[in-house]
Amino acid sequence: MAKEDDFDQQLPGLNEGEIIVIRSKRRKRTISAYRQGGRIVVSIPARLTKAEERSAVPEMVAKIRAQEIEKTVDESALATRVDELLGLYAPEISERPVSVTWRMMRERWGSCTNLDATIRISSRLQRTPAYVLDFVLFHEAVHLRYGDHGPAFKAVLARYPMEGLAQAYLDGYEAAESDLTVPDLPN
Ligand SMILES: [Zn+2]
Repeated sequence: MAKEDDFDQQLPGLNEGEIIVIRSKRRKRTISAYRQGGRIVVSIPARLTKAEERSAVPEMVAKIRAQEIEKTVDESALATRVDELLGLYAPEISERPVSVTWRMMRERWGSCTNLDATIRISSRLQRTPAYVLDFVLFHEAVHLRYGDHGPAFKAVLARYPMEGLAQAYLDGYEAAESDLTVPDLPN
C-alpha cells in the first residue's frame, strides 16, 4: 500500500478523483490525456504494467496542467479584476479582498470569507468565457460587504450586465457536468 500512497502524493488530484486512468484493450502503444467533466482522463494501453503506469500518468497529467496554466489568468490578475468590477458596478463597496486564489472546488463556483477578506474561485472557471468568470468574481466581491444572498446583495449583483447569461452558462455547465462526470470505465 505504501507504493500506492506515494503515487497519490506525487500526483495531486488522484485522491480527489480529479484524475481517472482508463486501461484500454484497443490501445496498443499510445497514451492520451484529455479533460472531461472537470476531470483529467488518461487512457493507457491495457498491457502497461503498474510501474509503467506510475511513470507515464504523471507525465501526461503534467502536460495537461501545463497547457491549462498557459491559458489561465494568474491570481494577481484576478485581484485586479475584482477591483475593476467593484469600481464599475459597485463603487460604494470599498472593501477589497486580501487574496483571490484559484481552488479546486467541485461543489461551488466561488467562496468568500468575510472575516479575513479572502476569495477563492473554482479552477473549473479557468476554462469559461471571461463574462462568466467576471460574474463569479463580482458575486464573491459583493459578499465582502453582504454576507448573505438577501435583497441588498441581489440588488447589487443585478447591476452586472450579463448576469442572466452568465447564470445560464453556469447552470448549463453544472447540468452537463453531472451527466458527464464519470466516464464509462471499460473492463
Ligand atoms: Zn454567494
